[in-house]
Amino acid sequence: MSKIKSSNLGYPRIGENREWKRALEAYWNGNISENELIEKTDEIRLNNLKKQKDEGIDLIPVGDFSLYDHVLDTSATFGIVPNRYNYSGGKVDTDTYFAIARGVDDAVASEMTKWFNTNYHYIVPELNDATPDLVENRALHYYKEAKEKLGIDGKPIILGPITYLKLSKGYQEAEFSQLVNTFLPLYVQILQELADAGATWVQIDEPIFSSRVDEEVIEAAEKVYQAFANEVPRINIIFQTYFEKLFAYERISKLPVKAIGLDFVHGDSLELLKTYGFPKDKVLAAGIVDGRNVWRASLEDKLTILETIKQFVHEDQLIIQPSSSLLHVPVTKTLEGKIDSVILGGLSFADEKLQEVVTLTKGLKEGRASIQGEINELKNALNNLQATYRSNDVVRKEITNLTEKDSKRNTPFAERIKLQEERLQLPLLPTTTIGSLPQTPEVRSTRTKWRKGEITDLDYEQFVNDNINRWIAIQEEIGIDVLVHGEFERNDMVEYFGEKFNGFSVTEYGWVQSYGSRCVKPPLIFGDVSWEKPITVKESVYAQSLTHRPVKGMLTGPVTILNWSFVHDTKPRYEIMKQIALALRKEIEALEENNIKIIQVDEPALREGLPLDADKWDEYLEEAAYVFRLATATVAADTQIHTHMCYSNFEDIFDCIDALDADVISIETSRSHGELVSTFEENTYTKEIGLGVYDIHSPRIPSVEELKQNINRALKTISPKQFWVNPDCGLKTRKEDETIAALKVMVEAAKAVRKDQLATQK
Ligand code: GLN
Ligand code: ZN
Repeated sequence: MSKIKSSNLGYPRIGENREWKRALEAYWNGNISENELIEKTDEIRLNNLKKQKDEGIDLIPVGDFSLYDHVLDTSATFGIVPNRYNYSGGKVDTDTYFAIARGVDDAVASEMTKWFNTNYHYIVPELNDATPDLVENRALHYYKEAKEKLGIDGKPIILGPITYLKLSKGYQEAEFSQLVNTFLPLYVQILQELADAGATWVQIDEPIFSSRVDEEVIEAAEKVYQAFANEVPRINIIFQTYFEKLFAYERISKLPVKAIGLDFVHGDSLELLKTYGFPKDKVLAAGIVDGRNVWRASLEDKLTILETIKQFVHEDQLIIQPSSSLLHVPVTKTLEGKIDSVILGGLSFADEKLQEVVTLTKGLKEGRASIQGEINELKNALNNLQATYRSNDVVRKEITNLTEKDSKRNTPFAERIKLQEERLQLPLLPTTTIGSLPQTPEVRSTRTKWRKGEITDLDYEQFVNDNINRWIAIQEEIGIDVLVHGEFERNDMVEYFGEKFNGFSVTEYGWVQSYGSRCVKPPLIFGDVSWEKPITVKESVYAQSLTHRPVKGMLTGPVTILNWSFVHDTKPRYEIMKQIALALRKEIEALEENNIKIIQVDEPALREGLPLDADKWDEYLEEAAYVFRLATATVAADTQIHTHMCYSNFEDIFDCIDALDADVISIETSRSHGELVSTFEENTYTKEIGLGVYDIHSPRIPSVEELKQNINRALKTISPKQFWVNPDCGLKTRKEDETIAALKVMVEAAKAVRKDQLATQK
């Protein structure tokens, strides 16, 4: 009998209807007890397991479920709790666990950051003065639960020691090896207890090896996994990587583990096999179904790849699985009742992906003929989608006809900035905001009512206009120089455009976890993208009609729209990015024709899209800058293009930022002012720039003195002629009174520094 097995790397936690989110939030709000929370989440977890069993998956993951985040779970496993939460050892209780994630009155939350190149965020472990100890073997608990309650002999999932430590903070680099030694026996104990309980397979996630790591890190892995092999030879370890090809493949693939898990969707893992072969004594766990996208896989293409892979392994030592945890895709497409049936026919969420894994396993074991029915059905669905939506000749021709001129502004920055100054008549150190203004409960509930058809289009439009009107007056009153309309009409900066461009669609239930209980619903890009009619012109023109000061047009850039959507995979991503750029260009031209003098194109996701494989950075950054210019380059010399990004460590992308050729950029800075300013000491930046002068994530109102200092510090390295004064990011999450108070302080600080500057210039 063939030894080929099907497997899964992790299942979405949130439940088909986001029951998980509701349970967590009900508990946080004090509406249900801890016992009720446990009851509800147990039910969700067991249901998830049952579904995977019914689907026919051989190796079902256990321990991937979480009440918040799996990195935080790992910290809880080892009693890594920062001192400020008054933890005194033992199992970390539920409230302490949530306190680390969310903060409590007297202790701020731990930092949260993006999980590799995904939009999932994990809680950064703070090792500082913690004393690691195995306080709760969670993997064991979940293994036993699945066995006892559902008769499932699960595959426990553990976050590996090397990745866990590399993602942690609170220690010096020199202490790394020492920490590895500290954690090693604790991991051995986990594995021993699992083996004692009867577990045969355990998946140890080490995605850090999908990025470039130092020699020291590779050596640490060799040591750790050798120790596991010596101490717990009974258990079959899968060393699991994902999101990119395995770094240092030649050495890592030789680790003394039973199986190596590789991603055959995102990294060129097949190339690795062809170049270096695969160890004869190991099982290859092949991630073949895309765990990060929602489109159905071509069964025939995947089978072809699997047949090639099979040639490299010994005696069917193969596991077939998704490329990563399915945490990054929605649960099931069966709930989608409204979406176009042709599009629905091409979709595959977590449950459907597991079917694909099972089908492929069968096809590989028993031959293509055994799954011919599935292959035919899929072909029909994909052909249908292709013919209906993926052959927009007009768009394609436009792309083919692009020339150098399309991505280059006619007038160099030094000349056009003079024309812009003449037209805009702004003072030294002009003040502005990033775009969104407070989305009050009233703004949100009115939008919901309108969506449900409870209020008319006209009433909704009037409501949005009233808000624009009121806020133009407020901004004038505060004395801001360049105004915004406030984005009251937008639910989300990507979905808003997704609903209006051709080639996009939105789902009803396509939620994925972003951080904690917060879920996002990325739009789908199912076909060729094009612009049909103006999207933002009405609101911008209305806002501009109310004031003599310039109002910025406000758009989301092509890189961000692409990175925050589920993009179909039948065409290169860069090609689709170009289509989005051309669609945006038409919107920008429409704004310009309507006399909007400043247009901001936000790219907050540009940095996070940076590939894990550093060899791919240059290409990505070049393409990103190119499409940004494609969208923005055709405007007149005296139309000012702004962009905005919200992360401060941008040394890696400094050249790219310059290559965008935007006249003005605003960047989030206030949490790391020193660092960013030093970037400007080392690099010369000639265009205009606003480094955020206050943190918008906090309700705190800064003082004038503080903001003056922030501005003055930046002016040490950036000329006042180049500098803009603005908050870190959009203000939509803040309350109205906080926003007004903080903006007043900002304008006052800008005016004071402006006065000093003018005095010294004289
Ligand atoms: N213009 C957007 C806003 O102000 C930018 C948001 C962002 O950078 N994430 O909300
Ligand atoms: Zn931002």
